[in-house]
Amino acid sequence: MIHLPKKICLSCRNFSLQDPQSGVCKVVKGLVNYPLKATGDTCGQWRDCGQQYFIRTGWIKGRLAKENGDKVATESGIIC
Ligand code: SF4
Repeated sequence: MIHLPKKICLSCRNFSLQDPQSGVCKVVKGLVNYPLKATGDTCGQWRDCGQQYFIRTGWIKGRLAKENGDKVATESGIIC
């Protein structure tokens, strides 16, 4: 069975990740400041972001590893 991501901001097309715990919701376009959301938040306007979810989780893993002083290669190869 295929593992599907939970319907949370982290797996939502309207979400823009900013750090390992949070990002902004761009479901309403054109705002000066988009509302801050935790990665685990959710709402009725969730839309599947597809492959982007795995890129985001890889980025978070790399970022946390870096904060811990580890050197780790992630699936996406991104270490910021
Ligand atoms: S608040 Fe809703 S629409 Fe916005 S990023 Fe989270 S799930 Fe998506």
